[in-house]
Amino acid sequence: MNHRTTALHDLGVAELAQALRTRQVSAVETAQHFLQRARTQQSLGAFLSLNEDATLAQARAADALLASGNAPALAGVPIAHKDVLVTRDFPTTAASRMLQGYQSPFDATVVARLAQAGCVTLGKLSCDEFAMGGSNESAHVPPVGGTAPQPVRNPWDPARIPGGSSGGSACAVAARLTPAATGTDTGGSIRQPAAFCGITGIKPTYGRASRYGLIAYASSLDQAGVMAHSAEDCALLLSHLCGPDPERDSTSLDVPAEDFSRALDASIEGLRIGIPAEFFGEGLADDVRAAVDAALRQYEQLGARLVPIALPRTQLAVPVYYILSPAEASSNLSRFDGVRYGYRAPAFTDLLDMYKKTRAQGFGDEVKRRIMIGTYVLSEGYYDAYYLQAQKIRRMIADDFQAAFEHCDLIAGPVAPTVAWEIGGKTDPVANYLADIYTLPASLAGLPGMSVPAGQGAGGMPVGLQLIANYFQEGRLLGAAHRLQQVTDFHLQRPAGI
Ligand code: GLN
Repeated sequence: MNHRTTALHDLGVAELAQALRTRQVSAVETAQHFLQRARTQQSLGAFLSLNEDATLAQARAADALLASGNAPALAGVPIAHKDVLVTRDFPTTAASRMLQGYQSPFDATVVARLAQAGCVTLGKLSCDEFAMGGSNESAHVPPVGGTAPQPVRNPWDPARIPGGSSGGSACAVAARLTPAATGTDTGGSIRQPAAFCGITGIKPTYGRASRYGLIAYASSLDQAGVMAHSAEDCALLLSHLCGPDPERDSTSLDVPAEDFSRALDASIEGLRIGIPAEFFGEGLADDVRAAVDAALRQYEQLGARLVPIALPRTQLAVPVYYILSPAEASSNLSRFDGVRYGYRAPAFTDLLDMYKKTRAQGFGDEVKRRIMIGTYVLSEGYYDAYYLQAQKIRRMIADDFQAAFEHCDLIAGPVAPTVAWEIGGKTDPVANYLADIYTLPASLAGLPGMSVPAGQGAGGMPVGLQLIANYFQEGRLLGAAHRLQQVTDFHLQRPAGI
């Protein structure tokens, strides 16, 4: 690939790494190019912070390594991080007033691992406040170039949401402001925005990537992953992101890092793809159904076999998730008390009043709603009725997947019931929660899941195909996605004007 004839921002991670390694382009030149693009696309609201000096210092270090001939695999490849992953060189806000201006003294493990692999950090990306949401309309700090908080816009149609909570990540990759981004997925926040913005995203098995330095929303579900244009690019990044972190995250699993690129070319001849009837019922929009069906036909032509399966508790995933995740959130967010981190109300009468005012002013409405729901379901008298019941059903949902995997190697379906909706178009919280129906089951089971571009629906908006695999079978997911991307070009299509 000759970058002189192809713009740098048109290159994926693999191509950029190659161009950097062969010195067709320097890391500094690459970083400057993407920083410049970020500045010209500020109206999208994707970035919450940039630090040009820090980025260029990292790029110069990458160039020095590249010159030495002893550079790590991704030396000089730009990446941007969701603003719930703490970073030493950039502020971290979780898009909350509560953390506005907060500067972490250390890097999250996944940030540090990607830096060790040579990646250069461009900046931090917007998200729903504390990763609670699916539309990226609830960022409460202003984006770069803005003076007031704003929703992130979808590059395919700026009147629409990019999805969430990793909406800034999906927007930035789709708009070619970065070749790749990290995201986090608690109930779908990598897969759904990837689907809405026409990019590829993967959430690994719970525990495969360290949560150290990931600002906690619901710890038993939170998982970091990557978003990029192709499965090939995701595989490269994920190989560095994953791996045990026993000293810093006790829930990180003792499963060694793996070179996922080696799984890309596995044959899918005879692969059994499970099709859960529950993912194709009422509520699935016709345009999404048509695109997903077409992708499934494509798999059949490639030699895979479609197998009907059942995930009978799919409907219950929504109430279960919206009991358990607020319960964990209410506990995790108790640390934001005006004493230890970030914001403190400027005027108060006594300690209790300081807590109350700080939290009333520091948190936005959706976060407060979840803290209240979570506190309620954990309170005496309701704990058994809600929290414990939800825990039991969570276990059954995980068991349903194991029963399904007796009959198939992968599960496929839509990521979301519709394409991205208009900003301001879904104000009822429950309507937002219901739209998570297809991503929540895999999250509750801790399974790896992926979103793969599968064409366009109404209004030319992207549609994502969801692939779910059994524990630790990220390679199988990436291989199946890669195979589809060898015969389709949905992942290469771009929004008008980008
Ligand atoms: N949309 C879901 C929620 O609002 C998922 C969020 C996430 O995965 N972080 O909780």
